[in-house]
Amino acid sequence: MPTPTYINIHTHHPSPQGITVLNTFLQEFQENDSQQYQSVGLHPWHIEEHQGVLNNLTKAADRKHVLFIGETGLDRAIDTPFELQKEVFVQHIQCAEQLSKPMIIHAVRSYPDLLQMRKQSKAQQPWVIHGFQGNLQIAQQLLKTGCYLSYGEVLFKNRPKVIEAFLQTPIDRLFLETDDKKELSIQQVYEQAAQLKEIPIFTLIERISSNFRKLALFEG
Ligand SMILES: [Zn+2]
Repeated sequence: MPTPTYINIHTHHPSPQGITVLNTFLQEFQENDSQQYQSVGLHPWHIEEHQGVLNNLTKAADRKHVLFIGETGLDRAIDTPFELQKEVFVQHIQCAEQLSKPMIIHAVRSYPDLLQMRKQSKAQQPWVIHGFQGNLQIAQQLLKTGCYLSYGEVLFKNRPKVIEAFLQTPIDRLFLETDDKKELSIQQVYEQAAQLKEIPIFTLIERISSNFRKLALFEG
C-alpha cells in the first residue's frame, strides 16, 4: 500500500475515496479478477434463505482480494434461531482461523455472546466489530480480547455512551466505516472522528492506515 489514506473498513458501496473494503454477501459472490478489496460472509439476516451457500465460504474467502471473513455475526433482533446463528458464526470463525484472515462482525444486542464466543473459541485472528454501538464497559472487554472497534454513522448521533466508548478506544484498535450509508463519505466520518477525539485528521489517517496494513496486508 502506498501513502496513508482513508480506510473504509466496511461499506456496501464502492467509492473512489481512499481504500475501501467492499462487503460482499456470500450468496452474491462472483469469481472475478477485480483488484477491489472485499470481505465475504453469510450475514445473519440471510442465514435462513441462503444457508446452502456456506459450502462455498472457504473457497470464496481464500481469494487474494478477500481480506476479511464477514460480515458475519449474531443478531438478537431477528427471528432466526440464535443457536443456528451461533453455528453459522462458528463456521466463519473456523474459516478465518484456517485461512489466517481477520473477521468483520455484525452484532446486535449480542456483545456479551460475542465476548463469550471470542473466549470460548480461542480465536487468534483479529475481529473487527463493525458499527460498534456498545458502552465503555463492553468496549473495554472486547478490546482486552484483541478485538478492533469500527465506528461510523453513530459518531454523528447524540449517543453519549457510545461516544464515550469511542473516545476511550485506542487509535491502534480503531477503524472507521460508512456501512450501507450511501450519503455518508468516509472523509466526513474521519472529520467527525478527528473533531471528537480532538486530534489532527492526519493522525487518524496515518494510524488507521497502519492498523489496516497490520491486519489485512500482513505487514509488521
Ligand atoms: Zn454492513
